Amino acid sequence: MAKRDYYEVLGVSRNATPEEIKRAYRRMALKYHPDKNPGDKEAEAKFKECAEAYEVLSDPEKRRQYDQFGHEGLRGASMHDFSKMNVEDIFSMFGFDDFFEGIFGTGGRRRTRRPGPAKGYDLETNVDLTLEEIAKGTEKTIEYTRQDRCQSCNGTGLASGSRPAECTTCGGTGQVARGGGFFQIVSTCPTCKGTGQIVTNPCPTCRGTGRVPRRLTVVVKIPAGVHEGQGIRVAGEGEPGPNGGPYGDLYCYVRIRPHEFFEREGNDIKTVVPISFTQAALGATIEVPSLNGPKSLRIPPGTQYGTVFRIRGEGLPDYRTGRVGDELVQVVIETPTNLSPRQEELLREFAKTENKDVLPKTRGFFERLKRYFG
Ligand SMILES: [Zn+2]
Ligand SMILES: [Zn+2]
Repeated sequence: MAKRDYYEVLGVSRNATPEEIKRAYRRMALKYHPDKNPGDKEAEAKFKECAEAYEVLSDPEKRRQYDQFGHEGLRGASMHDFSKMNVEDIFSMFGFDDFFEGIFGTGGRRRTRRPGPAKGYDLETNVDLTLEEIAKGTEKTIEYTRQDRCQSCNGTGLASGSRPAECTTCGGTGQVARGGGFFQIVSTCPTCKGTGQIVTNPCPTCRGTGRVPRRLTVVVKIPAGVHEGQGIRVAGEGEPGPNGGPYGDLYCYVRIRPHEFFEREGNDIKTVVPISFTQAALGATIEVPSLNGPKSLRIPPGTQYGTVFRIRGEGLPDYRTGRVGDELVQVVIETPTNLSPRQEELLREFAKTENKDVLPKTRGFFERLKRYFG
């Protein structure tokens, strides 16, 4: 097939300015755009022909070669093969996206006439977990409510046997045009939301909305090591998408239940354990709680109030690496009360042997006290 003259294709004169060529291309591209000529192969071919002509005439060097030697002059020049490209790509090629935005919808992208299926809304819910569950990972059954497709009308909102009427605002096209002449702005019809149809006889179950609230249960797999506030995504358990689109997702946000013994610090867990002053002084092996049952912990002689002992690997696993944190045990020393006469006697004996001045903390305190009064 013989190639047409590029100037003729764009309908401009041989001495057209770059601006005139640009305007001509826009005009042609709009005229032959497949959105305005759905299924029209000839329009698509014309659209591509315009793109090719514009590619040459908008480039000073290519235009010069073409002016001098015709189509022959462009042999070996770098040219797109538009016949192999899809329309959308050609469309966005020349940087006219802004210009086309108002006319064809977002970004100059091709849009179907009516809004197509879209993903449904995501939903959120909470999942309450114990530290024990977080340590190992678990499965939780979660109950939640979502707006589901109405079963009576299959989401159409129509009473059985009834048909939708054509929207009178847009005449059933789903779009309304503003402005006049060539530069019309086309937008989605506000009355029918772009469907082109109006429900006149609504489904009694959903009152025409096509949706009904439904209580559902879902089993959620909780990985070990999750943190407070973390969202666990359950794909496809959100709300159904409009126009038969896919379901959104359900996000389960972690809430950690307070624990009787432990507080979380990153991947470590922390607890406070009381010991007697004799255990602190003489040393002892005591039993402490852990997430994996009781553990024995050796307290060395001379342990001071508030000392923190670390039990390695008894914390929580890291969510990503799986590396397990530690358990931190802080000991507090309880002063004995309600001494038996025998105990009191022994303590008085002990006190007689005790040289208070050699206890480092005590000495410091009394020296400071002496200076204070002195
Ligand atoms: Zn409408
Ligand atoms: Zn219904």
